[in-house]
Amino acid sequence: MRIMNRFADEGYRNWLKGNEGLRELRARLSSFLENETRNFHECLSVKINTVLHGKTCKANCDIKSWIPKPKKLPALCKVCVPWRDEILDNHSAKGGPIHWNNSVPRLWPTEKWEVAKVYMPRGHRSHNSFKDFDIAALLNLMICCNHFRTFIEAQYILKVMEVRNSVMHSPDNSISKEDLEEHLRKIRNLGQALEPYVPELSTLSEAIDEFSEITDMQPRTSFAILQSARVDSRQRPRTDGEIIRDAEKWALTEKIESIIQRFEDGQRAGLKEEILALDKFLLTSHDLIRHVRPQLKKLSDIAAHFENLYVESVTRHRQTYDELLEEAETSGLLEKISSVCQRFEAGQWTGLKKEIKDILWMPMELALFL
Ligand SMILES: [Zn+2]
Repeated sequence: MRIMNRFADEGYRNWLKGNEGLRELRARLSSFLENETRNFHECLSVKINTVLHGKTCKANCDIKSWIPKPKKLPALCKVCVPWRDEILDNHSAKGGPIHWNNSVPRLWPTEKWEVAKVYMPRGHRSHNSFKDFDIAALLNLMICCNHFRTFIEAQYILKVMEVRNSVMHSPDNSISKEDLEEHLRKIRNLGQALEPYVPELSTLSEAIDEFSEITDMQPRTSFAILQSARVDSRQRPRTDGEIIRDAEKWALTEKIESIIQRFEDGQRAGLKEEILALDKFLLTSHDLIRHVRPQLKKLSDIAAHFENLYVESVTRHRQTYDELLEEAETSGLLEKISSVCQRFEAGQWTGLKKEIKDILWMPMELALFL
């Protein structure tokens, strides 16, 4: 499925809109979460320092291997224990399994995100700034850390968590119109509820509508995308084609990262089917593959763990970028595209239709350069 076919499918456009709604929400939470994570950390520091009087961990406390079990707590030194107990005291799921090994206890007094990570799902040990955390991690932080109850009821966040799971696990990257409306309503509701504390959220609903409009207006050919790709994006506002391409890249990366994370967490139920569905999607959407090459390499390794699972899209695109570039240059493809774009912009359309047709029939691998 070339881009023109992908966008003819309403279910795919809806899937993209759902993903983008979550992305717009996440982007607008950045300053708020930075500030409130810092405020929460400072509150704990002040309280704990009345006991510790500035003492620091000398035992180099760390929790590398940890199996989360209800009511189980890590054994730590006398300096780290007050931190552990305060973190637990502010946890909404005190009785449940907690992923203490997401963080390094000796860093709790100095690093706010090391404390915040205890309120997140597993898999964030190597992450240490806002940009590293996906929407699921940030929503979990706001659900599990009682500090955020000052700003919003947990039910609003839980609803958006349902949206995230539904969008991420959609096997065929497709969402019905009814489901999308419900998803976007939940995202907007969270935005409205938090808006008094997060002014950036005042533009959330508008951004969701704008993206929806652009997505539905997507031309049914890939030529607009091809054209926009030839101009330096730093010199002008992004074109609709670039906005869409960026959204597709983000949505696909999130999806593959989610599969990788669940595999690494040992959550393998249904994963084989999701990988197969993703493979089918990529085989017909090869123009997206270059955006997710690092993730595809990991996906290939994961596929090897499942018996009789052949991931064709990954195998077919194992060629390196340099090899493909050399091939494209040798065949004169890049020059052809550039020439077609220039002539189109200059209004010299004679014979252009046939040339575009020839380019669109190029070998699949060379299409990566579009
Ligand atoms: Zn310690």
